Amino acid sequence: MKKHDIFKRLKKFTCPYCGALVGCDELGRLGMYSLKMYNRHVERCQEVVEALRAGDAQEAERARDDLQRGD
Ligand SMILES: [Zn+2]
Repeated sequence: MKKHDIFKRLKKFTCPYCGALVGCDELGRLGMYSLKMYNRHVERCQEVVEALRAGDAQEAERARDDLQRGD
């Protein structure tokens, strides 16, 4: 894969909320469930961020537990 393509892929799999690279390694390699993993992470990460924004620490904690369990 070209450097440019790796960069594009890394960007695509970087969480906009926490900046973590999800479902993809730093060389841009993907697994079978990469997109699924990424989408699930972003969905949960968004819940954490929104709860924090709303000042709901309890909900943020719960959402963060879900995120870390990652199932
Ligand atoms: Zn995230």
